[in-house]
Amino acid sequence: MKFAYDFHIHTALSPCGDQDMTPNNIVNMCLLKKLDMIAITDHNSCENVEAVMSVAEGTGLLVIPGMEVETSEEIHIVCLFPTLQHALSMQEMVYRSLPPIKNRIDIFGNQQRLNENDEIVGETEQLLVTATNLTIHDIFREVIQKGGIAIPAHIDRPSYSVLSNLGFIPRNLDITFVEVSKKVAKDSPLCQQYESEKYQILQSSDAHYLQDIMERINFMDLENKSIHKVLKNLSRKSK
Ligand SMILES: [Zn+2]
Ligand SMILES: [Zn+2]
Repeated sequence: MKFAYDFHIHTALSPCGDQDMTPNNIVNMCLLKKLDMIAITDHNSCENVEAVMSVAEGTGLLVIPGMEVETSEEIHIVCLFPTLQHALSMQEMVYRSLPPIKNRIDIFGNQQRLNENDEIVGETEQLLVTATNLTIHDIFREVIQKGGIAIPAHIDRPSYSVLSNLGFIPRNLDITFVEVSKKVAKDSPLCQQYESEKYQILQSSDAHYLQDIMERINFMDLENKSIHKVLKNLSRKSK
């Protein structure tokens, strides 16, 4: 069966994320857009994942616990995990690896932790939008050890991407999928090039605003809709 996905969505916890990106607003927008499965991927944190998962319970929308980690090379990696506990254990490591800089709301914006009723339960003090001291190799090793999947984010972008910062995709990493931004055509030279190099292409919204969440246009073929099946499919090598 084909399921519509968007595996890169920020909440109001990301300082650059709109304050309307609350658990209920996100889930309702995804249901309106008839998406089947999403991932919540805030910058270097997964503190709002649990609330989004609770809101989605019983709606049919599958929520994968995730995080967009920034490596020491300033490369963004979308990390998806089999359970919330795995994501939280990654978060502990990521928090230890961030520089001790406090967020400045006036410069970067709010970092709001929300509950399943969209109430603000706290403001994360540690600045989340900065590089960790973990290399891209560290991130892949940790995520894979936790049974998760690491995907180089928005490889078409001129900054914070593996291509902009390294110039190539390291061959010694277990990369099966690469992510392209919403505006990239699937038959673009970029997609064709990486598909010919045996990478599979994932297209997600990287939504920081409700209206940017993906329409029902990208699908994944799975036997059934579960986190296990999604992760298994994402670890599958291209033929
Ligand atoms: Zn990013
Ligand atoms: Zn992002």
